[in-house]
Amino acid sequence: MEYKASNKTIIVRLARGEEVVASLVKLMDDLNINAARVSGIGATDNATVGVYDVKNQRYTKVTLTEDMEILNLSGNLSRKDGTPYVHVHVTLASLTSVYGGHLNEAVICATCEMILDVLDTTIERTYDEETGLNLFKL
Ligand code: ZN
Repeated sequence: MEYKASNKTIIVRLARGEEVVASLVKLMDDLNINAARVSGIGATDNATVGVYDVKNQRYTKVTLTEDMEILNLSGNLSRKDGTPYVHVHVTLASLTSVYGGHLNEAVICATCEMILDVLDTTIERTYDEETGLNLFKL
């Protein structure tokens, strides 16, 4: 992973073999980021995405292992009990199909170009019994 900071914007490039969520956690630790908006594009050949089953309060996941473009990656960085919390959704496309969902992990097969807008605040999360999710605590 390579990155450079400019004001409150961080430009990130991931290399082949690097994983998106782990890289964002590392970036939050390295640069002490407590709140940010994330956007990106790239390519992956190994991604796990999920859709939340509200009734059963769990994610239904699928792992995709074909060459796919990351058409869109968007989400945010926050903290839960002081620990980095990455919440990112993706839209992925092969030549014949489009997939999307909550991103659990994506290993980059070519590159991933992300831009982080770091916010001058801390976004904390707290567990919500009703949904079973860790929601923004504002
Ligand atoms: Zn999600």
